[in-house]
Amino acid sequence: MTTSNASRRIVGKVWLVGAGPGAPDLLTLRAADLLARADIVFHDALVHPGTLALARRAKLVPVGKRAGHVSTDQRFINSHLVEAATHHEVIVRLKGGDPMLFGRAQEEIDGLVAAGVPFEVVPGITAALAASADLGVSLTRRGMSRSVTFATPRIGPGEASSDWAVAAGRADTTVLYMAAGTRVETVRALHAAGRALSTPVVVVENASLPDTRRIVATLGDLATLPLDESSGPVLVLVGEVYGELLAAADAAVGVGAVRAGVR
Ligand code: SAH
Repeated sequence: MTTSNASRRIVGKVWLVGAGPGAPDLLTLRAADLLARADIVFHDALVHPGTLALARRAKLVPVGKRAGHVSTDQRFINSHLVEAATHHEVIVRLKGGDPMLFGRAQEEIDGLVAAGVPFEVVPGITAALAASADLGVSLTRRGMSRSVTFATPRIGPGEASSDWAVAAGRADTTVLYMAAGTRVETVRALHAAGRALSTPVVVVENASLPDTRRIVATLGDLATLPLDESSGPVLVLVGEVYGELLAAADAAVGVGAVRAGVR
């Protein structure tokens, strides 16, 4: 087989692998097996060192992608994946959480297809599921929530805006990725889409990791929460299913105070 834009022979296959939310032991067995066999691993910035350590024989190439931090141009990643497939057999593209959710997997898949490189996707545990596990609160608590939306207010460079808040405002439970930096706009958009400002909100940082933190608040409070010191990735979960956490936090510190760090 030859590539469409370069007549180099493709000898390898690319696996787009979900690294899970952080804790290395939340990796799938399939992912761990591929890491052990990998010749080269292109990994996101958020991947835990303990997970990378499983790639014993591989060359590790960071291609960090983190809002507000140095990131690697998508075309650069695509061309490196194709190039790697001309001289390596097992190429792993390791992505935080699940590759198919806010992971830019499609751009990479399209690039691999165009270049005639075989690929396979290995799912991972997405951050929303890890955060729900940490909280001990079901996304679909019976009698309260029969719909869940995974959304992001973030618009990448060159992307058209979409009305993310319509679906996010209507679902019983909403999980927002990459929303910490745009809290004021996020609150305004969800409120305009019909969410009451009294709706319970939980912000979870570093889900699945030992240093995880959470803040329980209302949607109205979200804009002014002290999140700027946070160092890890942050998810915002919104919905009545978090009402008991909010009530417990209010009982512990008094209504009106910032309900920070209450477990
Ligand atoms: N594909 C990933 C999401 C990538 S977008 C997945 O399925 O989880 C990056 C965003 O994911 C971060 O800005 C944050 O909102 C969220 N995120 C990833 N890991 C997280 C973690 N351990 N705790 C909280 N949020 C996390």
